[in-house]
Amino acid sequence: MKRTDKQTGTAPSEFIPKRGTPAEEAYQLVKDETLPQTQPRLNLATFVTTYMDDYGTRLMNEAVGINYIDETEYPRVAVMCGRCINMVANMWNTPEKGDWKTGAVGIGSSEACMLGGISAWLRWRERRKAEGKPYDKPNLVMSTAYQVVWEKFCQLWQIEMRTVPITYDHPSLDIEAAINACDENTICIVPIAGVTWTGMNDDIEGLNDALDKYNRKTGYDIPIHVDAASGGFILPFLNPEKKWDFRLKWVLSISTSGHKYGLVYPGLGWVVWKDKKYLPGDMAFSVNYLGANITQVGLNFSRPAAQILAQYYNFIHLGFEGYRKVHSSSMDVACYCHDQIGKMSCFRNYSDTLENPLFIWYMDPEYDKNANWTLFDLQDKLMQSGWMVPAYTMPKNIEDMVVMRIVVRQGMTQDIADMLMGDIRNAVAELEKLEYPTPSRQAYLKSEKQKGKVFTH
Ligand SMILES: *Cc1c(COP(=O)(O)O)cnc(C)c1O
Repeated sequence: MKRTDKQTGTAPSEFIPKRGTPAEEAYQLVKDETLPQTQPRLNLATFVTTYMDDYGTRLMNEAVGINYIDETEYPRVAVMCGRCINMVANMWNTPEKGDWKTGAVGIGSSEACMLGGISAWLRWRERRKAEGKPYDKPNLVMSTAYQVVWEKFCQLWQIEMRTVPITYDHPSLDIEAAINACDENTICIVPIAGVTWTGMNDDIEGLNDALDKYNRKTGYDIPIHVDAASGGFILPFLNPEKKWDFRLKWVLSISTSGHKYGLVYPGLGWVVWKDKKYLPGDMAFSVNYLGANITQVGLNFSRPAAQILAQYYNFIHLGFEGYRKVHSSSMDVACYCHDQIGKMSCFRNYSDTLENPLFIWYMDPEYDKNANWTLFDLQDKLMQSGWMVPAYTMPKNIEDMVVMRIVVRQGMTQDIADMLMGDIRNAVAELEKLEYPTPSRQAYLKSEKQKGKVFTH
C-alpha cells in the first residue's frame, strides 16, 4: 500500500508536513522506500560490510543512542576506542612505546585519509617555516587510481595533486615516475594497499627504498601515508611477512576502513601515526579526565559509538585467527572466481594473481573486435538475476578500457560464487546470440571511431 501526504497526495518531499502521521504508518512509509534494489549478499560492488553476526548486531543496536564524544557520560567507550587504536597500531607493527598508541577514529577511511593528509601538510609547513622558506605551494603525489577522497582532500585544503598515470605497463604506482614528480613542496606520497579500481597493492617497500635514496640525495624528508582502506585489514592476516607498514622507514601514517575488511557495519575508519611526534600538536586535543590520558583527533565532533563497540567485539570474538580465517576464505572464493573468469575465452584478467579478495577483468581484445555487446550489457543482464557486478572505465590514460569488478566479502560462499559463475556464463551465452550491436556497443564503436580520427591527424 502506498501511503501519501494527506495534503498533497504525494510522499512529502519539500516541506515538513503540517500534520503528523501515526507512527506505524510513517514507519511503513519510510521502510517501503528503503527496500534494497539488490540483495546485500548479491552486491559484489561494495567493499563495505553487509553482514555481522547476531551479537555484533545486537551490540550496535543497543548502542544506537550513544554519542562517542560524550566522554563524561561514557568514559569507557573512549577507553575502548583507545584499545582498538592500540590493536590496529600493533597490527601494523608500530614502533611506538607507551600505553596508548597515537591514532584516531573516523567515520570511514575518508576522514582517516584527511587526517593523515592534514598531518603531513602541517609537518611540511612547520618545517618550511622553520627554514624560512615559502609554504604556499604544497603538493601531494599518488597514482591516477586514487580514491575520490584524495581529490576532495586536495581541493578542500588547496593542495596540488600530482598524479602518476597507471598504464598497461604500470598497472599500479610507477615508482620512478612518482619520485620524479616530487620536489621540495611535496607533503607526502600516498601509495594504496588495495587499490579501489584494480584490487592490487602499490609496491610500498619499493617506494620506500626509492624515496629513501631520493631524500638522502636532496635533503628533503618526504614521508609516506599509506591509504590501506582495504589492505590494512588484509595484509596483516594473509601476508604478515610483507613489509608495507610501520616497519618501513618513511611510512609515518596509515589509514584504513573498519567498515571494510575490519568487518564492522558502515561508519568506521582508523588512522595511526608511527609516533606521537608525527601528529602535529595543532591537531591533537588531550583529555585526561577519563582516568587515562587519551588524545583526541578528528574532523567530526559527535559521532556514533556503536561501530567502536562492534570493532572491539570483533577483535575479541574473532581474534587474530578468526580474522585470518574469514579473510582467507574470502580470498579462496575470490581466487576461484578469478580462475573461472580467466578460463572464459571472452575475458582476460587484469592481474595474474590476487593480493586482496577482489579483482577486475576486461574483454579479450581479439574477442572485443567482433563482439556485439560490452561489459555494461553484462552488468545489466546480471542485474536481472539480482547481482550487482559493476562495469566501469579505467582512469585517465587507459580510460578506453572497460573493466568489471568483483569484491568478495565475508558471507560470499563457494555456492554463491558457483551461482554467479553460472549466471555469468548464461548471460554471455545470451549476449553472444545477438545479431546486432547493443546500444552500449554502438556508443563504444562510435567513440572508438572518433578516437581513430583524432589519431590520424
Ligand atoms: C573505500 C576507500 C576509501 C574511502 O573509504 P570510506 O571508508 O568509504 O570513507 C579511500 N581509499 C580507498 C583506497 C578506498 O578503497
